[in-house]
Amino acid sequence: MNLERSLEHLNCINVIRFAEPMSGHTSFRAGGIADAFAEPGNREELAEIIAAAEALGVPYFIMGNGTNVLVRDEGYRGIIIKLGDGFRVCEVNGLTVKAGAGASLSAMAKRAAEESVSGFEELSGIPGTVGGAVRMNAGAYGVSISDVTKEIYYLEDGECKVMDASDACFSYRYSVFCDKPGAVILGALFEGKDIKSKDLIVSSMNGYTQKRKASQPLEFPSAGSTFKRPKEGYASRLIDECGLKGLGVGGAKVSEKHAGFIINCGGATAGDILALMKKVRDIVYAEKGVELEPEIVIL
Ligand SMILES: Cc1cc2nc3c(=O)[nH]c(=O)nc-3n(C[C@H](O)[C@H](O)[C@H](O)COP(=O)(O)OP(=O)(O)OC[C@H]3O[C@@H](n4cnc5c(N)ncnc54)[C@H](O)[C@@H]3O)c2cc1C
Repeated sequence: MNLERSLEHLNCINVIRFAEPMSGHTSFRAGGIADAFAEPGNREELAEIIAAAEALGVPYFIMGNGTNVLVRDEGYRGIIIKLGDGFRVCEVNGLTVKAGAGASLSAMAKRAAEESVSGFEELSGIPGTVGGAVRMNAGAYGVSISDVTKEIYYLEDGECKVMDASDACFSYRYSVFCDKPGAVILGALFEGKDIKSKDLIVSSMNGYTQKRKASQPLEFPSAGSTFKRPKEGYASRLIDECGLKGLGVGGAKVSEKHAGFIINCGGATAGDILALMKKVRDIVYAEKGVELEPEIVIL
């Protein structure tokens, strides 16, 4: 099927690009080409693209900031959808913050800080969007997005729905949206902890940024922690204890600074990253008897 020709009649064709390299849209800076990449600016455009994909029987995938995704070198035979400007709105009202799924966590935390609302400082350095964070139940420094989420707004089967956070089955790096691949998170309502001085909030956020800079290889492309934390302890500790820091395949390497991160040292292909992940998993299993499970989403 010629996807470009099949979609040319859409009203929002101007927000769709074809044969788009995903290395430009993922924090790994690696991976293949998507047949189509769409950035709908509002719900009507989003609904039009999804309806067209469903009518054509073409798969689609919702991407946030691409900070936890690896697209295989073979690329994606379908439409990758990234929520555009209309989904980045962030409103603060008392202690509550209503944010579009495309808003970055750092923008949301800054917006809350401007209104003296605390509770988002720990999450502020996670480089994803609200949608990606809710789906993954992202968290850092003892706080998860589930701790501050009240309601989730999402699109499913063509209908806009609201879910109470208590129904999202949040657990470590999991929400019910992991099992609803057709649902698109549109936004969420959060509740901060407290009203505090702006300076205190900003200085706490800066403290977390410094901690990240000191412990994570932020100077290299990566997708953060490659593996989930197993019940036996931190994946990074197990990988380090197996002496795997610095282990490489092609342009991909286990970071010397943080063994939990696989980094792209330059020119890594998705194949290099996947091969390195396999090596690390095999060695950790052989030496420690622990099966590491990828945290990153592989497309
Ligand atoms: C340097 C670095 C540091 C990191 N540190 C942390 C950390 O401290 N803690 C942590 O938890 N993670 C961390 N991560 C990983 C990542 O930032 C988080 O998992 C983040 O929540 C992913 O958000 P995203 O918008 O980039 O989502 P993506 O990576 O684009 O997508 C992740 C998943 O969410 C889905 N998704 C995205 N948006 C939507 C939507 N609107 N509706 C439905 N599904 C959606 C995608 O389909 C995909 O399955 C780090 C990554 C990097 C690169």
